[in-house]
Amino acid sequence: MEFNLSLGSAEEEKRDYDVVIIGSGAAGLSAAIYCARSGLSAVVLDKTTPGGLTAEAPWVENYLGYKAISGVDLAKKFVEHASDYVTIRQDREVTGITRNKDGYEVQTREGVSYSCKGIIVATGTTHRHLNVPGEDKYYGKGVSYCSTCDGYLFRNKRVTVIGGGNSGAIAAITMSEYTSSTEVIEFMPRYMCEDAYVRAIERRKIPYLKNKQVTEIKGDGKKVTGLVMKDRQTGEVSEVETDGVFIYVGLIPQTSFLREAGVKLDERGYIITNAKGKTNLDMVYAAGDCVAGNEAQIATAVGDGCRAAINLYRDMVNSG
Ligand code: FAD
Repeated sequence: MEFNLSLGSAEEEKRDYDVVIIGSGAAGLSAAIYCARSGLSAVVLDKTTPGGLTAEAPWVENYLGYKAISGVDLAKKFVEHASDYVTIRQDREVTGITRNKDGYEVQTREGVSYSCKGIIVATGTTHRHLNVPGEDKYYGKGVSYCSTCDGYLFRNKRVTVIGGGNSGAIAAITMSEYTSSTEVIEFMPRYMCEDAYVRAIERRKIPYLKNKQVTEIKGDGKKVTGLVMKDRQTGEVSEVETDGVFIYVGLIPQTSFLREAGVKLDERGYIITNAKGKTNLDMVYAAGDCVAGNEAQIATAVGDGCRAAINLYRDMVNSG
């Protein structure tokens, strides 16, 4: 996704903030607005372009105020709004946080460090891989994790979506508009998406194959040509011909860089916070999809960001 914004040019040399916000998705940008409006100086760091996973949603129909908006457009609105208040720096991957005498130092892969009194972690999640033969080999050659980014490459072609949860269902529904055929392969023996998506899948007659395990993605050396799957009840193995494989089999939190600092994570790597969004470290809060028990929704990420910023501000005021 390209944003035609000049992000971060104004304060090129500033390295010292009240708050460093890690991640510029819905949660991080919401937190940024609240921090800035409370009078805290804040910077948002992101390892890629701003906007987060919202930009991957083909259509968002459940965010208050918009009956339907493309994820890219909504993400752009978030970035434009937040960049009125704070500097957003892209290509800044945070690799660690350490305590210093005044608070924290935040290190990035790019070699730039920032010092701050408080941190809001809003690093979201990334796509889980299937880990089957052919997946890595054909990534970018028919295998994708983002229909919004790559779906248009498959106009009038056959695509298969692996994983029939909400994200996979939305991807299939959207791509069925312009592909020659779209089908969904689901590991579980039942629909795994919301009713609204089930109805859309049925209305569009998109095959939703249940209880199937994909075991291999096949190709001709240059591009994907099909996949192999096993029926989990009968054990029957079958092959499907397809041009594109879109994988939506879950998400993993982007939190490994916090382990060394001693931030408490649950067994799956999600950040454990209290009801105010605070982690076990002083002045370190977390928000959005990287938090344990999150609902993986834009609305809740925005709310989390707001809560983390307000409570971090209160902590700072109370600590003098
Ligand atoms: P993210 O949006 O994931 O943002 C995290 C940001 O942190 C990213 O920009 C990432 O680059 C950055 N980051 C990660 N690690 C680092 C690091 N170490 N250093 C610096 N930056 C880092 N939700 C809805 O409410 N409605 C929908 O219709 C909907 N549809 C969806 C469709 C799809 C296909 C997908 C994948 C998701 C959908 N969602 C939807 C879910 C929604 O996108 C997420 O819940 C939301 O984006 C979470 O926001 P976040 O800010 O917590 O994390």
